[in-house]
Amino acid sequence: MANILSGLANLGLAGLENVNLYETEDKKAEPKPKEEPPVFKEHDEREYVFGKSHSCPVCYNDFKAPTVRQSKLRSKGADSDLRPRFAGIDPLKYDVIVCPKCGYAALGRFFDTLTPPQAKLVKEGISRTFRSIRSPKDVYKYDDAFTNYQLALGNAVVKRGKASEKAYLCLKMAWLLRGKKEAWDSGYEPYQGDSYAKDVEELNQDELELLKNAVEGFMNARQTETFPMCGMDENTLDYIIAVSAMKVEKYDIVSQMLNSLLGKAGLNSRMKDMCIELKEQLKAVSK
Ligand SMILES: [Zn+2]
Repeated sequence: MANILSGLANLGLAGLENVNLYETEDKKAEPKPKEEPPVFKEHDEREYVFGKSHSCPVCYNDFKAPTVRQSKLRSKGADSDLRPRFAGIDPLKYDVIVCPKCGYAALGRFFDTLTPPQAKLVKEGISRTFRSIRSPKDVYKYDDAFTNYQLALGNAVVKRGKASEKAYLCLKMAWLLRGKKEAWDSGYEPYQGDSYAKDVEELNQDELELLKNAVEGFMNARQTETFPMCGMDENTLDYIIAVSAMKVEKYDIVSQMLNSLLGKAGLNSRMKDMCIELKEQLKAVSK
């Protein structure tokens, strides 16, 4: 991925491909070779999703978008950075809603919270050149979902959305790429390239790039916005920032977040344990 938004040209939005989210600089991560992909296992995700009705706040088109049935979700815990995992489906793939007619896209929690001036910006910056999606899909592969997230991020830039919204999209996109890698590894989604190790490494690098953008955006949002932010309280967000900053080697931020978290009297014991563990990791890399 040359840029987080590369690929949007296919939707008629080439101008957004090289846009800067918060004006960042590039940094490379360590390559790590992987084994061959396992064999693809047939499965059907349709039993987990249904077509939910939406009305577009930009073009007033009524449409249906695939949505996960909450009753079908069985938790399998979470990663150290609180990325949730579920049996049989990754609901993260379905969090972005896309209007197939005008290209307006946003995470479900933000879809209807569009001001009239923002709707105008979306019309000018997205809808004007967006190529309508003739036959929207009823289940998403990781690549479909990633394109939807790219479109949501493009919309967030165009509508001058808050830093927290853009950062949250970057965080979820990073999680999505981790999900894609796991789906290849487990045979849930077929690997179709010809250099597995190279493509896995590219996913790792792209995940780090997205996490870096998420950390930067959230640090910015912490200074200018109020909690709850994207549905997260201050402790949860500070912890996610700390873990993500650790992955992208921004140790000063890890330290800052941990000091803030561990200095709080009301921190719950689980969060405290996770912070102490992270502090140990930080000590180990700081030696
Ligand atoms: Zn629309």
